[in-house]
Amino acid sequence: MAHLFLIATPIGNLDDITQRAVETLKQVDYIACEDTRTSSVLFRRFGIDKPTFSFHLHNEHHKTEHMMNILRGGQSIAIISDAGMPGISDPGFLAVRAAYQNGFTVSAIPGPDAISTALAASGLPSDRFTFEGFLPPKKGRQTRVKLIAESEITTVVYESPHKLIRFLEQLYEFAGGNRWVCIARELTKKFEEFDRGRLERVLQEWKERDSIKGEIVVIIAGKEYDE
Ligand code: SAM
Repeated sequence: MAHLFLIATPIGNLDDITQRAVETLKQVDYIACEDTRTSSVLFRRFGIDKPTFSFHLHNEHHKTEHMMNILRGGQSIAIISDAGMPGISDPGFLAVRAAYQNGFTVSAIPGPDAISTALAASGLPSDRFTFEGFLPPKKGRQTRVKLIAESEITTVVYESPHKLIRFLEQLYEFAGGNRWVCIARELTKKFEEFDRGRLERVLQEWKERDSIKGEIVVIIAGKEYDE
């Protein structure tokens, strides 16, 4: 039956996939993967064997039309990304919007995502927060960092390891060293780590590291927060 599923997949530890995610992946007609090679590890582990096609940042528009044609033919599709919930700093939005516009039903099968995993374990206020995703590399970046520094509520940022120090330094410039932050690295993986404290200490220690590797979420407390 024509139906579009968004299915969350593990952000590191394969055991985090849900039973419903596996069952749904086994039932759909097609699986749209951000990277078919990455997803093949998951498929082998859970015995999933369905036709796949690639669906990523660079073919999103074209493949959205392809997906609408599949749905028009009465078949179902699951979208998965390399990690976490598709559509969250990953392709998904265009296909979901098109599905609604064309009168198809959409479901999300919840599961792991880096935002809530990092935020919940940060020990920083989680009652209200802003998700900034990835900051722009150049144009508009400073404005976004200033807004984060001025925010009354917690902010969640996705950052690549090689830009982490630059981000913390920019934040230091606008928010000062007393701001509470938490760096969540390699969530659910072997070298999972949370470093929580005032920006001054965190920045200094991460600057002293020989190298910074892995996947990173930075949580920044609101400007009035203190403990
Ligand atoms: N769709 C994903 C989700 O639901 O969280 C996010 C995909 S986005 C392309 C990838 C970014 O998410 C990484 O650069 C990192 O900031 C964050 N991320 C993903 N997995 C992570 C992990 N295991 N530990 C820390 N951060 C992670």
